[in-house]
Amino acid sequence: MRRERIVDVLVVGAGPAGLATAAGLAAAGVGEVEVVDRERQAGGIPRHCLHGGFGRLGMTGPQYAERCVAAAVGTGAVLRTGVSVTAWAAPLTVDTTSPRGLERITARAVVLATGARERPRAARLVPGTRPAGVYTTGELQQAADLHRQRIGTRAVVVGAEPVSFTALDTLRRAGVAVAALVTEHPRHQARPARALDARLRHGVPVLTDATVVELVGRGRLSGVGLRHRDGRTAHVACDTVVFTGDFVPDHELARRAGLLLDPGTRGPAVDGAFRTDGRGVFAVGNVLHAAEPARAVAREGTLAAEAVRRYLSDGDWPSASVRLRVAAPLAWIAPNRLTPDDPPGAFTLRTTEFAARPALVITQDGRTLHRTRSRRPAVPNRPFRVAGDWTGRVDARGGAVRIALG
Ligand SMILES: Cc1cc2nc3c(=O)[nH]c(=O)nc-3n(C[C@H](O)[C@H](O)[C@H](O)COP(=O)(O)OP(=O)(O)OC[C@H]3O[C@@H](n4cnc5c(N)ncnc54)[C@H](O)[C@@H]3O)c2cc1C
Repeated sequence: MRRERIVDVLVVGAGPAGLATAAGLAAAGVGEVEVVDRERQAGGIPRHCLHGGFGRLGMTGPQYAERCVAAAVGTGAVLRTGVSVTAWAAPLTVDTTSPRGLERITARAVVLATGARERPRAARLVPGTRPAGVYTTGELQQAADLHRQRIGTRAVVVGAEPVSFTALDTLRRAGVAVAALVTEHPRHQARPARALDARLRHGVPVLTDATVVELVGRGRLSGVGLRHRDGRTAHVACDTVVFTGDFVPDHELARRAGLLLDPGTRGPAVDGAFRTDGRGVFAVGNVLHAAEPARAVAREGTLAAEAVRRYLSDGDWPSASVRLRVAAPLAWIAPNRLTPDDPPGAFTLRTTEFAARPALVITQDGRTLHRTRSRRPAVPNRPFRVAGDWTGRVDARGGAVRIALG
């Protein structure tokens, strides 16, 4: 039998973004705020990141997750774990399943905070055999740190962005030698000190302009095939490979709701108040822009809580919006819709190519709205931001706003 319930706000996903949203809403006294998560333990990805670097104080992942949970529960949000949202029965009604049975929950507002995941090997279309020893960083951390499983003896890490160096640390802690980090880009994308430390102290090189093109091995991985940009190929012997980064938003629920998805981020398209194109449905955190640090998504959660609170009190929802479109080498921008009453926030962008001091040109229907030069380099897999002080010049009835590197 399916139980039916009504709450004021349902938050799907108890990671840092969902928990911060719930904490803000519960503290504002908007009524019954419920957070559900399919995992048995709340906290999202930080739960299985034993390394430090979370929040302003650089806490370990589990410490940070615990703090986020305590903030949400402490303000009066109801937290239910082991509960998966599986479908939509109506625009603000979802079906859930858990060991306690099936439920149908209707809310006045739904917040999607379902996060992002690293693309696994299959999604990266790497050919070869299907041996054991192939992980994403998340899978590696769960196996090594949570379940204390034996990982292997010699690994290759695919990627050279900040999370790739986290995988390197996890492998070393698990007693696995790391042969190399491999990136298709001409440089690594982490802090210089991080890559230097890996090379000088641990003897782990970053192989640049190179792609893993094949996995070899029957039963267990025995090596990977590499192709360099200039066409040279090589074989690296290893029994473990970790595919890192290359995050995609967990957008399944947004897609099932028929919400507009942004072609760049592949998450739900939202305006500056975290509103999707579905009335009463908000989205926050890495489901919008995979992947930002935990502190950034928690800050978003606090802002989203205020936007949801406003909607619950005045019922206003924009009837039209202007889309934001990026031109290559920009990959995406978030938020990616503009509505007339948007708060004047900042925008996050990603590039697929390095640019030393990128000039950004923002136009609408051939009219220049804004031109700026960033003092910081644009680096693939790392955020760079532009302030939203130009949004007042956008014609609400005009065409899409175009953002390009000048
Ligand atoms: C390996 C790794 C290392 C990292 N290291 C750092 C670091 O050092 N410092 C840092 O600041 N950040 C780090 N990050 C990034 C950080 O983890 C993310 O910024 C943060 O977790 C994003 O929070 P979120 O709430 O958007 O999503 P998540 O943390 O991904 O939470 C989403 C939650 O939604 C739940 N969910 C999804 N779909 C459903 C559904 N249908 N029904 C119910 N529940 C659902 C999931 O179970 C999950 O718990 C790291 C990330 C990774 C992968």
